Amino acid sequence: MIYLDNNATTILDEQAGKAMQECFYKIYGNPNSIHPMGLEAYRVMEESREKIAELLKADPREIYFTSSATESINWALRSATSFRGKRKRVITSAVEHKAVLNTLKDLQNSEGIEVIIVEPNKQGIIFAEKLLEHVNEDTYLVSLMAVNNVTGAIQPYEEVGQYLEAKNIFYHIDAVQTIGKTSFNLESFCNFASFSAHKFHGPKGLGILYVKRGTALRPLLTGGGQERGMRSSTQNVPGVVGTAVAMENAIKELNSTTEKLRLFRDSIVKAVRELGGVVNTPLDHSVPNTVNISIPGVRGETLVNALATSGICIGTSSACSSRNDGGQYVLKAMKVREEISESAVRVSMSRFTTKTEVEDFIKSLREAVMLLKF
Ligand code: PLP
Repeated sequence: MIYLDNNATTILDEQAGKAMQECFYKIYGNPNSIHPMGLEAYRVMEESREKIAELLKADPREIYFTSSATESINWALRSATSFRGKRKRVITSAVEHKAVLNTLKDLQNSEGIEVIIVEPNKQGIIFAEKLLEHVNEDTYLVSLMAVNNVTGAIQPYEEVGQYLEAKNIFYHIDAVQTIGKTSFNLESFCNFASFSAHKFHGPKGLGILYVKRGTALRPLLTGGGQERGMRSSTQNVPGVVGTAVAMENAIKELNSTTEKLRLFRDSIVKAVRELGGVVNTPLDHSVPNTVNISIPGVRGETLVNALATSGICIGTSSACSSRNDGGQYVLKAMKVREEISESAVRVSMSRFTTKTEVEDFIKSLREAVMLLKF
């Protein structure tokens, strides 16, 4: 199998897996117990929290562990809403992940908030100025993604943060697609940032919510008082340990990964253009692991299925099937022609992707397009 769907999820980093295995079989105490095995589990969990905080340039007290980025996002947006006072306005973008868009939709229905959705330009990029012109006295929250999962486009999250820093408005960044793909840290301002370990070769079922010190936060789960009383339930120690190892390796390898994936992406883009295809990713303003492409006349799902028969896994952006990431709305927001959006597929590489895999993908793509188009 050649796996090129790394924006959906990634293979587990081997070192992370080994560290997790040790937790499963040796350091398996409850980190909240006071006996030696509990204390040992607590120690490794807190060491991992410190490592993650250091990598993100945050304070360990600003790092909360959750079960996914979807949970982190829900927590941030719902907590901010509970502290909004009389204010009603939230500003976000049309290309956010559904974890943001559907949570805001739910809050619109249940709390009567006003959700302003800012459209991107044709490249899928949000202009900070366009977003910020909607800020008024009624605004209590802005939520913007750092990197788009469908196209790889990098959004102006730093610029927005600079503007919001001095304002009494909550600012959430969906940073899920940043780690190991672009240099992201929490020196640039936000109140909340969400991460997901399985997107950077960490384990599934482990999310992070960064909460800047001094930000009002409502407990997500009440119970035994874990996570400083903010998210009760016994922590996933193996998951936390695996996440810290995976994050450290992803960040350590960022430069070499970027260099390698740029070359790989260039060769995919060249082949796509030779086949009469279209590149939907803004190449000079995106993370190098992602390229969203369309071969006009060949539907996305058809191409995905044809490549699957050659043992190649890529992602579709189509909303036709329930088992996908529903990225079609992102291309629609970019005002991409229907023929192009219907044929869009997403190729997303990782630092483990090899040159041979990319060459095999290009060969299979050529064969599939020849068969399907003519
Ligand atoms: N935000 C973005 C940009 C994503 O790409 C994803 C996953 O695809 C999520 C949020 C949700 O992450 P999780 O699967 O950890 O809930």
